[in-house]
Formats: sequence, C-alpha cells, structure tokens
Amino acid sequence: MSQTKKTNVAILGATGSVGQKFIELLSNHPWFEIAELAASDKSAGKKYSEAVNWVMQTTLDKKIAAMEVLKCEPNLKSKIVFSALDASVAGTIEEDFAKAGYIVISNARNHRFDDDVPLMVPEINSDHLELVKVQKFGKGAIVTNPNCSTIGLVMALKPLADKFGIESVNVVTMQAISGGGYPGVPSMDIIDNVIPFIGGEEEKMEKEPRKILGSLSGGKVEYAHITVSAQCNRVSVIDGHMEVVQVKLKKKVSKEEIIEAWNNFSGEPQKLNLPFAPAQPIIYLEGEKYPQPKLHRNLGNGMAVSVGRLRECPLFDYKFVVLSHNTVRGATGGTILIAELMKAKGYLD
Ligand code: NAP
Repeated sequence: MSQTKKTNVAILGATGSVGQKFIELLSNHPWFEIAELAASDKSAGKKYSEAVNWVMQTTLDKKIAAMEVLKCEPNLKSKIVFSALDASVAGTIEEDFAKAGYIVISNARNHRFDDDVPLMVPEINSDHLELVKVQKFGKGAIVTNPNCSTIGLVMALKPLADKFGIESVNVVTMQAISGGGYPGVPSMDIIDNVIPFIGGEEEKMEKEPRKILGSLSGGKVEYAHITVSAQCNRVSVIDGHMEVVQVKLKKKVSKEEIIEAWNNFSGEPQKLNLPFAPAQPIIYLEGEKYPQPKLHRNLGNGMAVSVGRLRECPLFDYKFVVLSHNTVRGATGGTILIAELMKAKGYLD
C-alpha cells in the first residue's frame, strides 16, 4: 500500500505504561504520526517530559518530550485516537470521543463486550470490523483489543478451531509483571515468588475467546461454543506471558497436522502486508525446552506467537505451551495492527 501523507493520531492515557509503549512503537511508523497526547487533568498543560515517568528502554524523542499534554476531551484535531486509559475512566471518555466522530481503538476492557464493538485480533476476526457499520456513533467508532493473555491463547487456537474444531480448553498462565502496568506488583511480593491470582483475568480469558472466535451473523457476533477454563498466575518475568494449554478437539488428528496448521497459518494482515504484521504469526518451536520468555518473546518484533511442546494429553486430546509478548502483541502492537487493518480497509478515510 503506498502512502503519501501520514495520518495524524492521538494517544489518550499517553503518560501511562501502555501510552508510553504506543509512543515507542509509533515512532517512525510509516502510516501514522503522533500529533497529540492526552492524559488526566493532573498532567494536562504540562510538557510531556514533565508529566511522564518514562520507563521505556528507548530514549524519549525530543519532539514528543516537548509536546503539551492535553485533556482527554473530544476537541482534538486527530480523528484517530488510541486509548490507553485507565479502565476506571475509559468507558465514558471513549464513548464521548466516538459520539463526537472520533475512531477510538482501545486497550481498555470497558467496551469489549458491547454487542456492536469488535473485539479484534486482526489475523483471526478481521471480518468483525463490519460491526462498526452498525454502531450508533455516526462517523465515530470504538474497536477494542483483547486482554494480553487472551491474545496468545486465541492465536494458537484459531488454526485448530478452523481445521479440526475445538470442544474445550484448559489453560494455566504464567504472566509477566509488565502486564500489571507500572509500577505493578511490589518487588517484595513478586521476587522469589509466584502469585496465584490476577484480579478479573480468569473471567476475561474464559469469555473473550468465545467472542473473538465467534462468527458474524446478522450484524452481531455469535459466540463460539467452546468451554474455556483458565487459571492465572503472576510470575517473576518482566515481559512475555507463557500459557500451558490442554485442548479437546472435535476431530482425531495427528501431531504433524496440528504443527502444520500452526506454521502455515496466516491472516488478513499478512495478505495485506501491514507494517506490524509478522511474516509468520505462529511459530512452532521444536526444542523440548521451548518456548521461553527470555528467548522467544521478541520473535517477529514481538508480534509472533510461539508454540512448543505439543504432546498427547491423557485428559484432553493434546497439550502444548504458548508464549506471546504481552505489551507488544498483547497490547500496543496488537492495537496498532488493528489501526493498520482499518486503514488498509478504508475505515479511517
Ligand atoms: P496506567 O499506567 O495507570 O496509565 C493510565 C493512563 O490513564 C495515564 O495516562 C493516566 O494519566 C490516564 N488517566 C487516569 N485517570 C484519568 C482521567 N480521569 N482522565 C484522563 N486520563 C486519565 O495504566 P496502563 O498500565 O498503561 O494501562 C492502560 C490501560 O490499558 C488500562 O485500561 C489497562 O487495563 C489496559 N491494558 C494494560 C496492559 C499492560 O500491559 N499494562 C495490557 C493490556 C491492556 P495521568 O498520568 O495523567 O494520571
């Protein structure tokens, strides 16, 4: 896709950890230009460098540092807004922006289950974007990104659901500290420890896959009939959510057929050659000790999901391990890929 002029975008919640990651990943983006940054009233009016506690591993760009932080009010000049707002305020602010004609692409959980809002992983359910046309916001729209641990799971499940059908899934997560934002869990709690509870996470993992893997029919999503049981744990890893998965399939299949389904999987982002699309979205790793967060979270620039240790399961049919970068594929990178898909399909014109 040839691009001449970049599209201006704004970031709501630009000072938070997800907001900072947006700034990092959008720097030098071929299609999008960060034109405005917004956050709470406490930050508004300040220079970005004064309002933010920059915790990214790259230096803060001088132009961004000098930008004035604006209020999250729908009077911005950028019509495309990425939301990295705290869930306590995201619901109403995102709706106000959509009503005022802005296209909101959000990381927050608030609108994920609105009937007319796509819950999107571009490789999996790009057709759900059609829902935007039945939204009540006129020119505006809201599109959401799933929870960071859901994304890795559904990526691994999608080829199996398409080719063999899935009856039920059991998943146990080992989730990175960065998934809780900054500063996250106190160091005294997480060093030398595993915390077997992440508030609200198991409910999200049990429900979100059913909408994402559901099919669009008559202007709404018919949820997939898959039972998911999830247990979520916080572990002492900085980035990269690992998940051990057991799956019961509708058909008898061989291990080779499953690995082939993963390695050959690709979706609309690959077809459209979108800038953030990894060439191979699911990579099966043969090593018996793979995948590992430290070694594999950055595959495909953090956008590829790695899978390993596929073996037969005496309780379900098969079991395996999934790894995905929670702040890239699981949050900002995934959201940017949604924006690219929308741009390529003419939703941002
Ligand atoms: P965070 O660090 O707490 O940042 C929250 C942002 O919201 C800040 O920019 C804050 O601005 C802004 N904000 C708070 N109250 C506001 C208000 N009343 N009006 C306008 N802006 C307000 O949170 P985060 O970890 O970046 O997460 C952001 C969102 O992404 C959350 O909904 C979270 O659930 C979701 N998410 C997070 C992750 C992750 O890996 N952390 C992954 C996926 C999704 P000030 O600095 O001015 O207070």
